[in-house]
This record gives sequence, structure tokens and C-alpha cells, in this order.
Amino acid sequence: MVKGVQIYEGKAKKVFATDDPERLVVSYKDDATAFNGLKKGTIEGKGVINNRMSNALMRMLEKQGIPTHFEKELSERETLVKRVEIVPLEVIVRNISAGSFAQRYGVAEGIVFDAPTIEFSYKNDALGDPLINEYHALALKLASKEELETIKEYAFRINEALKKIWLSCGVTLVDFKLEFGRIFDGSIVLADEISPDTCRLWDSETKEKLDKDRFRRDLGGVEEAYREIMGRLEKNL
Ligand code: UDP
Repeated sequence: MVKGVQIYEGKAKKVFATDDPERLVVSYKDDATAFNGLKKGTIEGKGVINNRMSNALMRMLEKQGIPTHFEKELSERETLVKRVEIVPLEVIVRNISAGSFAQRYGVAEGIVFDAPTIEFSYKNDALGDPLINEYHALALKLASKEELETIKEYAFRINEALKKIWLSCGVTLVDFKLEFGRIFDGSIVLADEISPDTCRLWDSETKEKLDKDRFRRDLGGVEEAYREIMGRLEKNL
């Protein structure tokens, strides 16, 4: 595999072509943004941690029958992935109230739900990733009915698998965001990343935040939290 030209640079990752049209190289950066790009900063070592964590979790999910874009970790920051056409939906699963859910519905953070919830945002920076429902996603032709069913099934199965692994690390999985894509044959796979950038992870005992909320809310100890959460996962994988 030969790494080719950069084809995309996002907020936290760069993407490169390879000599194989069906494969790309993703390179994780230390750059952090929040509030739709309004807040910018650097979290030193984040790229290395997110690369390693996302790959470890996707390997685990693959073993449990969830298809992902993961192919091979190439280096500290770089991973070979399947080329996908991203379904322009942010798929958010929640076990406990926090963030925009708590704000939107005027409830406290930390309310444990009887059953997990799922919601979709339309991935569109210019519009600020507005919340949409499944009928809107169909009307906008963002995904087919069958694809939405597959995405929901995978998302809830991923939640169960992640809740379990994090519980063994003394960590509560509060909520997280997933992105899915279509590979060459049109089938749906998990894409993007699973990391402290995209999940809320609280220490089960102290409820201390071990995720990007430390950066979003200027809580300090951001790098330490990323290192702590990665260390716990590696001990329990
Ligand atoms: N999330 C994300 N990217 C986004 C928005 C949300 O990864 O653009 C993640 C976030 O880290 C959290 C979950 O999705 O784990 C739910 O986020 P929420 O809707 O509460 O939004 P926020 O409060 O982060 O704006």
C-alpha cells in the first residue's frame, strides 16, 4: 500500500488516498474544536490516543459482528480504512442525560434513562448540524429506509458492547456519536471514530468527566483525562 495525496482535512483528521481506490489512510491530529468550530485548541497527544482507542474498539466490534471501516493500524497516528461514502447523519445514542439533551429539554445532567435513546443530526456545518427525524432523512434522501433500520440496529448493538467494556474499566458510557458509511457494494459499515472526542465517559464512582467535555467546558486536566481513559481501556481489553 502506498500513501498518496491528501484528499481532505477535517477538524480532527486528515485523509489521504492510497494506490488502492477502495482504501484510504486517516491521520489523527491533536487539534480540537467545539461548538461547531467556534472554540479551537490543541490537546497534546490526542491524535495518538484517539487513533489507538478507535481502532481497539472497532476491532472489538468487528469480533461481535458489527462491520466497520477499520483495516489496519499503520502507525501511532495513521490507520488504513475502507473508503466509504459517508451517510450525512450524526447518530447519537444516549444512556444518561447530558449536553444538548439536558439543555434542549431543560433537565439536569446525569438522569439515567430506562432505555437508551437514539437521535439523528443532519451533518451540515453551514446549518450547524440540525436535529432531524427519520422522515426528514428520507425526504432529504440522506439514507434509505433499510439503511436507517440497519444503522439503528448497529447503533444499539454498539451501545451494548461499549457500555460493557467501559463498565469493566470503571467508566460509565453516558452518550456518543457515530457515523456510518457505504462501502463499494453499498453495504453499511461503522466509520469515523469512537474516542473521548465523540463519547461522554464518566468515572463510575466519582462521575469525573474523562472526555472532551473537559476541553469544551474549560475544566482543565484535558490531556490527563485522555491518558487516563486510554490507560484504563488498555488494561481491560
Ligand atoms: N458529539 C460529537 N460530535 C458532534 C456533536 C456531538 O462527537 O458534533 C458527541 C458528544 O461528544 C457527545 C454526544 O455526541 O458524546 C452527544 O452530544 P450532544 O448532542 O449532547 O451535543 P454537545 O452537548 O456535545 O454539543
